[in-house]
Amino acid sequence: MTKTDTRISRPWSRVGDLFLYGLGQLRTIKKIYPGIMHLLIFWGVIIQVIGTAIKILQMGLFFPYSWPVFSQNVYLGFELVLDLAGVAILLGVLMAIIRRWIIKPRFMENSWDDIYALFLLALIPTVGFITEGFRLYSLQPSWANWSPIGNFTASIISNFSISPGTADLIHPYLFWGHVSLGLIFAASIPFTKLRHMIFTPVHIFLKSDRPTGELAAIEDIMEAEILGAGAINEFSSLDLLSFDACLQCGRCEEVCPATISGMSYSPRSLLLMLREDMAGSLLTPENGSDKTINKDLLKEGFLWSCTTCGHCLDVCPAFIRPPEQVIDIRRAQVLMTGEVPQTVGETLRNFERQGNPWGMPAPDRISWAEGIDVRVLSPGDAVDVLFYVGCAGAYDDRNKKVTRSFIEILNKLKIDYGILGDAEICCGETSRRMGNEYLFQVAAEENISLLSGYQFNKIVTLCPHGLNTIKNEYPRFGGSFQVLHASEFLAEIFSDLNLNLDNGKDFGRLTFHDSCYLGRYNNIYTQPRELLQNANLIPLEMKSAKEESFCCGGGGGAMWLETDADTRINHQRLQHALDINADTITTACPYCLIMFDDALRSKGLTDQIQVYDLVEILNQYLD
Ligand code: SF4
Ligand code: SF4
Repeated sequence: MTKTDTRISRPWSRVGDLFLYGLGQLRTIKKIYPGIMHLLIFWGVIIQVIGTAIKILQMGLFFPYSWPVFSQNVYLGFELVLDLAGVAILLGVLMAIIRRWIIKPRFMENSWDDIYALFLLALIPTVGFITEGFRLYSLQPSWANWSPIGNFTASIISNFSISPGTADLIHPYLFWGHVSLGLIFAASIPFTKLRHMIFTPVHIFLKSDRPTGELAAIEDIMEAEILGAGAINEFSSLDLLSFDACLQCGRCEEVCPATISGMSYSPRSLLLMLREDMAGSLLTPENGSDKTINKDLLKEGFLWSCTTCGHCLDVCPAFIRPPEQVIDIRRAQVLMTGEVPQTVGETLRNFERQGNPWGMPAPDRISWAEGIDVRVLSPGDAVDVLFYVGCAGAYDDRNKKVTRSFIEILNKLKIDYGILGDAEICCGETSRRMGNEYLFQVAAEENISLLSGYQFNKIVTLCPHGLNTIKNEYPRFGGSFQVLHASEFLAEIFSDLNLNLDNGKDFGRLTFHDSCYLGRYNNIYTQPRELLQNANLIPLEMKSAKEESFCCGGGGGAMWLETDADTRINHQRLQHALDINADTITTACPYCLIMFDDALRSKGLTDQIQVYDLVEILNQYLD
C-alpha cells in the first residue's frame, strides 16, 4: 500500500453521512424505480431482522438476556409493522424481478448470487407469513386484524381440513424453519452479493474526505518501494473495502463516457475484476496464490480508456471512486513495469525533457504573446491577479488565440495582472493522471516554490485542469493559493459592465459544454452561463448538461491517446450538439476546445458548427 487516507477525521459528519446515505439511501433513491425497490427491500429486511431478534429475546431462550414483553398496544403496533415490513420486502423483490427480467437495463447481468439473493429474500417473508398464519389460526386472538397478512394466511389455512390444535403442533416447526432461513441468510452474506449490506455502510462511513478532484499522493515517493498498485495487495485497505462495497448496481457504467462510446472499459467491470482478484488471492495466501491483477485490466483499451471525468463517483451510492483505482494501476504500469501505450510513453518523455506534455521548449511558452501588450512579472513583483496561462494556452495553436483574447479582456478591463512568461512551468496534471506521480510531485513542488516568489492576491486560469490541480492538489504539498477559473473571475466583473451588444457576430443556436474539471470537480456551472446571458446569449442545453455533463474525451491523459474512430468520446459529445441543431459550441476548457475541434475536423463538420472558448465570445462585446 503506497497511499494513505485520513479515515477518522470528522466522526460526527461521518455518522451523519451513514444516516443519510446508508440508512436513508439518499443517493440510491435518486433513480426512482431502483431506488424505491432497494429502499423497500433494505428497510423491510432491517425491520424484520430487528423484529425477529426481539421475538426470540422475548421467548427467554437466552436468559438472562431477554426483552421485556410489550404492553398489548405496543405489541399490536409491533405486529403490524412486522407485517408491513414483510410486504415491503416482497414488493421490492417483485420490482427487482420485473426490472431484471422484463425491463432489462443494458448493463444488468443476472449472476447466480443475484438469483439466490432474490430467492432467499422472497422465501423468508413468505415462510414468515405462513408461520404467522398458523399461529393466528391456532390462537384465534381478538387482535388478529393487526397482523393483516398473517390473518389472511390464517383464513386460507382454515379452508383446509386442519384443526387449530394441529396448527398449534405445526407452528413451532414453521417458526424454527423461518429462523433457520434467517440464519442461512445471515451465513450467506460473506459469500454472496448480500455482502454489500455490511460493506457498503462501512465504506460510506470510512470514505475518503479528500476533495473528489484530489488524487491520493504516494507518500515519501523517493523512498517508497511500492509505487501504485501492480498487485491486489498493493491497494489501500479502503480500496479493498470498496471492492466488496460495490453493489454491482451499474450506475457508474450507465454514465461512463468510455462505456457509452463502446469501449471495452467499464468502471463496474473494473471493480468486479478487482474483487475477483482479491477473493482469489488475499483470501488464500497460504496457497502462495498469484497476487498480480487480472491481465485484462492492463490492456490498453481498458486501463487507458478512463478520462477521469468523475461522473461515476458522483452517482455511486457506495461513494466508490473508480478512477482512483485506475490511476493506482497506471502508476504501477508507468513507474514499476514501464508497460504503457506508446503515446503515453512519448507524452511523459516530453514532460521529462521539456517540462510539458507538448514537448515544446520553455522559451516558446511566451510565443503566443508576440505583438500584444502583456506584463511579464519578475520575481518579487506584486499584482492583484497572476494569470497562470498553462501549457495548452501557451503551446496549442488553437488555444493560443483564446489566451490572447483573455489578455485583451484583462487589458480592456484595466485589471492589475501579470504572467510568469517563460518562467511558468506545467502544473503536472497530465503526468499525474497518466500515472507518473513522481513527475507530478516534482512539478508541484517546483511550481509552489516559483509561485511563492511573487506577490499576488489570486491566480486566474483558463484551464480547469490547472485550476483543479493548483486549488485542490497543491495544498497537500504546501501550496495554498486562491485560484479562480476565468469564468468565475469574469462573472464578478461582467454583471456590472455595459457590453456593446452590437459588436458580437451571429452565433446562431449556441450551446455551452460543461468541462468535467470545471463543473463536476469544482462546481462551476452557473458563472459561464451567466456570462453568456450578460451578452444576450441564452445557451441551449444539450442532453447531458451541468451535473449530468458528458465528457469531451480529453481528460485523464486521454487527449494524448490514439483511440479507435468508432469509439471516440468526442464524437459522441459532438452528436449531442448536433441533436439540438447547435450552430456554436462554447467551451471553457482548452482540452474541450481541442477535442471538439478534432471531432468537427474528423467528421468534416467545420463549416456546419463553430466552436469557441467563452472568453473569445465575451471579448467581442467589450470595446
Ligand atoms: S471517471 Fe468517467 S471515464 Fe472514468 S470510470 Fe468514471 S465515468 Fe468512466
Ligand atoms: S462502483 Fe458504485 S455505481 Fe458502480 S456498480 Fe459499484 S456501487 Fe454501483
